[in-house]
Amino acid sequence: MSPATRRRPKLAVWKFASCDGCQLSLLDCEDELLALAGEVEIAYFPEASSATVRGPYDLSLVEGSITTAEDRERIVRVRSASRRLVTIGACATAGGIQALRNFADVGEFVSLVYAQPQYIETLATSTPISAHVSVDFELHGCPIDKRQLLEVIGAQLAGRRPQIATTSVCMECKRRGNVCVMVAHGTACLGPVTHAGCGAICPSFDRGCYGCFGPMETPNVVALTRRLLEQGAGETAIDRVFHTFHAAAEPFAGAGSKR
Ligand code: SF4
Ligand code: SF4
Repeated sequence: MSPATRRRPKLAVWKFASCDGCQLSLLDCEDELLALAGEVEIAYFPEASSATVRGPYDLSLVEGSITTAEDRERIVRVRSASRRLVTIGACATAGGIQALRNFADVGEFVSLVYAQPQYIETLATSTPISAHVSVDFELHGCPIDKRQLLEVIGAQLAGRRPQIATTSVCMECKRRGNVCVMVAHGTACLGPVTHAGCGAICPSFDRGCYGCFGPMETPNVVALTRRLLEQGAGETAIDRVFHTFHAAAEPFAGAGSKR
């Protein structure tokens, strides 16, 4: 069957509460984008095109967290229109940096940020997509890595398991031959508990990892917290280190008091 007559799987890209950075990772696949467009029909991707094709869709990529009542209903419709659904990025997989509201009074934020707060309707929390609908795969990162994204798209469409490492950033450091910034310089680093995927960018430039790829599988947060305490960090400082992009991810939440 020629490419012109073959039915290509329909791909949809959806945005919820987010900065668009993860969707841009798809557009950033400059060398691979034409090949991808030959294999799939990019049916719904408002970030890239105003032309849209009706569902159902074979694969939906979902960026962003749920922060409004309207989005809570919309994600259910997206799920029912999607054969496979993959969440991309810290917002969609963990609630994102906007989940800092989960530890505070969102009404106070709204009154301070907006000139007309009476027009703002928002939920008290920012929650991951998996808290609302079933998800077939979660791809971590803030933003995600484009090579991992292409691997996940290919795997989902082929019906196989994506080849995504589940180890920590430390493993990537070792492969690059980096000197450990924590052992050698006493720099606070979340590499031991953070999901691999970035290639250990930050330690390669002599700074600590701040966890933008989120918690790895079964992270030993207690051991790392103890180590940070030995280095002189206080409980509040440790909480601040963990409370960034994945503040609401259970292994990182309240890390300063875990020991
Ligand atoms: S995970 Fe990070 S880069 Fe992706 S949409 Fe959220 S804030 Fe933006
Ligand atoms: S913060 Fe950590 S996970 Fe994020 S790019 Fe830096 S080293 Fe990688």
